[in-house]
Amino acid sequence: MYARLLVTGGAGLIGSALCERALRAGGRVVVLDNLSSGRRENLPADPRVELVVGDACDDAAVAPLVRACDAVAHLAAGVGVPLVLARPTGTLRQSLLGAETVLRHAAAARRPVFFASSSEVYGDAGPAPLREDRALGFGSPETIRHAYAAGKAAGEALAFAYAREYALPIAVGRFFNVTGARQPAAQGVLPAMVDQALRGGPIVVHGDGAQTRAFLDAADAAEYVWRLLARASPAGVLANVGRDAPLPILDLARLVRARVEPRASIEHRAPAYGAGFAPIRHRRPDVARLLALTGHEPAVALAATIDACASSLAAAR
Ligand code: NAD
Repeated sequence: MYARLLVTGGAGLIGSALCERALRAGGRVVVLDNLSSGRRENLPADPRVELVVGDACDDAAVAPLVRACDAVAHLAAGVGVPLVLARPTGTLRQSLLGAETVLRHAAAARRPVFFASSSEVYGDAGPAPLREDRALGFGSPETIRHAYAAGKAAGEALAFAYAREYALPIAVGRFFNVTGARQPAAQGVLPAMVDQALRGGPIVVHGDGAQTRAFLDAADAAEYVWRLLARASPAGVLANVGRDAPLPILDLARLVRARVEPRASIEHRAPAYGAGFAPIRHRRPDVARLLALTGHEPAVALAATIDACASSLAAAR
């Protein structure tokens, strides 16, 4: 348990769920967020949560906050394919510099760090469950979407470097398709489909829909972050954060239709983002290490996530 947890990117999807988790444990939270994709309203209305609007790359903002807290969850990053394609240098810079800034100050103050990485570092590695000890597989920098994976891979390497050189306790989590009621429609396939269904359809499936993803609710992701942070060590802890329940995207569309708008049609369109994007067919986590480290099984069913997403998007209209 931490008396005071610093959550960078705490106004976002996973960060705000982590704030709730920390409050349930009886602690306080300081959120550092530049509100680029996160929103103030995502944060629990609780006097124990303090929001500092600022940048995780900014030494002057990060240093005093790290010192004032007992542990750090570094979740701040530019997220979402459209953002990476539109602003590759900005996304990469924030990924690299944000990780370096947070880790450097955490090493100076000797505060354990959770670093948010991504399943993107595996690249397109096939339908089998992906284990943490396999070689990374993202593609050539000639395909610009790989800037995101490259940034995350560099962040992981930095975290392990700080652990080795400064005996800094670290835990790295590779998120696989975390979603939930606070995810904007532009940032995830599940809220995008729910949004389309709420508008009466069509629900758009890019390609044949046989590509698979495994979804995890943000509340479960936050539980994993909380427990992995407690396992942070100078030897370095690395774990996938996901649910081993791969689902074809066409089946997701059918489930969304059944729960949100049974009259909506499902429409197949060309793969998203056009030529040169290199869509990933399958992404499935091996969760043996995650379960061994945390002892937590996902508690939120996919149908419940869809329902919560529908309520939240409907309320925002
Ligand atoms: P999110 O966009 O909801 O949250 C990111 C938060 O970081 C936002 O609140 C945003 O305003 C903030 N932010 C961005 N750049 C910042 C900066 N330079 N300084 C301060 N704040 C900044 O996304 P999320 O899904 O909650 O993702 C959290 C972390 O998990 C990110 O690092 C992301 O790369 C990683 N991740 C998420 C998924 C997923 O499926 N959701 C998958 C892989 C990795």
